[in-house]
Amino acid sequence: MSVFDSGRCVGCGDDEAGLVKRVNGWFCDACEAWEREVENLDLDEWDENRRQRLAEAQEY
Ligand SMILES: [Zn+2]
Repeated sequence: MSVFDSGRCVGCGDDEAGLVKRVNGWFCDACEAWEREVENLDLDEWDENRRQRLAEAQEY
């Protein structure tokens, strides 16, 4: 299932209530705020951090 239509935060994988829909997916409050902050940061570095957090979230 794609994170883009699953209702899960694309930042941390949470499916908590109050997710915010953005053009690149769903975000929880914390990740949505983070998303706004990183719009002025290095996107490659941010994307790498996001991938690492997703990978960690998918490990059981
Ligand atoms: Zn999140």
